[in-house]
Amino acid sequence: MKISGVDKLMQGYRRYRDGDYEHSRKLIESLVSAGQQPQVAVVACSDSRVDPAILFQSDPGDLYVIRNVANLVPPMEEEGTYHGTSAALEFAVLGLGVKHLIVLGHAHCGGIKLMMQPDPYDSSFKYVPSWVSMLSAAHRRVLATMANAGPEACTRACEQNAVLVSLENLTTFPWVRERIESGELQLHGWYVDIAGPELSAYDGEAGKFVTVI
Ligand SMILES: [Zn+2]
Repeated sequence: MKISGVDKLMQGYRRYRDGDYEHSRKLIESLVSAGQQPQVAVVACSDSRVDPAILFQSDPGDLYVIRNVANLVPPMEEEGTYHGTSAALEFAVLGLGVKHLIVLGHAHCGGIKLMMQPDPYDSSFKYVPSWVSMLSAAHRRVLATMANAGPEACTRACEQNAVLVSLENLTTFPWVRERIESGELQLHGWYVDIAGPELSAYDGEAGKFVTVI
C-alpha cells in the first residue's frame, strides 16, 4: 500500500529521528546552545518541488529560508501591518547578520502562471492576484520585448524577471542597501529548472542568467 499525506510525513520524521538526527546530534546540540548563525538566507517559492534544503543538500543551521508564492520580495512599506516576508528579511539581515541573500526563482511557477493570465483577478483567489501584481510592470516589459517569442519562452522570462524585481525591491530596505555598500552583504539571483535539472545565476555584467551547474 502506498503511503501518502501526513502518514508519509510521520514515517519520514521517524527516519529523521533515528537517522539524520542521530548522525548530526553534535551539530544540532551546538546549534541549540550557541544559537543559529546561518551565513545564507534564501527567498524561495512555496512550491513543493523547490525546497532549498533539499536542492542544496544543506545541513541544519546552514540556510535561513523565506518562502512565499513566486519567491517575491515586496518593496519596503512604512505602515506597520502584517509584512511576513519583510519581517523574515529583517530578522535574517539585522538579527542574524547573514552574508548572502539569494532570491531563488524556478521554472513552472504557478504564481507566475497566474500573474500572466489576461486578468489574474478573474479567479477564485483573493490574495494571490494582488501579491503577484508587483510583477505587472516586469510582465509588460517581457511582453513588449518578446512579442515574437512563444508562450514558454515568455513564461521563463517572466519567472527570471521576478527574481530581478525581488533583487531590486531588496535594495529599497535601507539596512540591505547599507550592508551591500559596506560589503557585509551580497545579493544573488538564482533560477532553477528542476526538469533540467539546471541551476542558473544572474550575471549583472552580461545582463542575463547563465547556467552555473
Ligand atoms: Zn513558484
